[in-house]
Amino acid sequence: MEKREAIYEGKAKIIYTTDDPDLVIQYFKDDATAFNAEKKGTIKEKGIINNEISEVLFRLLEKEGVPTHLEKRLNEREMLVRRLDIIPVEVVMRNVIAGSLAKRFGMEEGGSLSIPVLEHYYKSDPLGDPMINLFHIRALQLATDSEMQEVEKLSFRVNEVLRNFFDERDLILVDFKLEFGRHHGKILLGDEICPDTCRLWEKGSLEKLDKDRFRRDLGKVEEAYQEVARRVVG
Ligand code: 5GP
Repeated sequence: MEKREAIYEGKAKIIYTTDDPDLVIQYFKDDATAFNAEKKGTIKEKGIINNEISEVLFRLLEKEGVPTHLEKRLNEREMLVRRLDIIPVEVVMRNVIAGSLAKRFGMEEGGSLSIPVLEHYYKSDPLGDPMINLFHIRALQLATDSEMQEVEKLSFRVNEVLRNFFDERDLILVDFKLEFGRHHGKILLGDEICPDTCRLWEKGSLEKLDKDRFRRDLGKVEEAYQEVARRVVG
């Protein structure tokens, strides 16, 4: 497998082409941003940890019937993945009231939701990922109805599998963000699943073990990522 040129550099990852047009390399950086890149920093070894955690979670999801872009983890910071035509819609799944949901409804963080809530956001850095609904997705032709039905079905399945997985490790899966893409006509789960993209609270103490420690200057950021890795990767 030959690594070729960088075709995309995001806030936390770089994507490189390879000699196989169907495969790209996802490189995990230590860079961290928040509030639409207004806050910038680095979290030591975050890239290594997120690569490892994502591999474990993608493998688990594949086993549980969710097709993902993972081919294999190559080394500490690189993962070989199937090349996707990314659907520009971020899916957020929520089990517990937190973050922007708490803010929007003026509610305390930590309240439970009677059912998981699925939200859609338009993936756009310049616009700061505004919330959208299925009518916007249809009108702007971001994805077809049948693609969005598949995305919804897979997102609920991901939530079910990951909630149980984290629960067994004494972590509450509060909420998380997913991205999907097309690969030879099939919808695959892409991006990464890690403490950058999930809210994870310790059962009992409700201590935050995710990127909110960086966003909210709570300290012990690296320690939180390492603790999640310890529980997920072992
Ligand atoms: P909220 O809408 O409350 O800010 O975020 C909900 C969940 O989705 C959180 O777990 C958050 O980490 C994740 N999330 C939403 N948008 C993004 C994003 O652009 N980048 C990352 N890393 N996570 C996001």
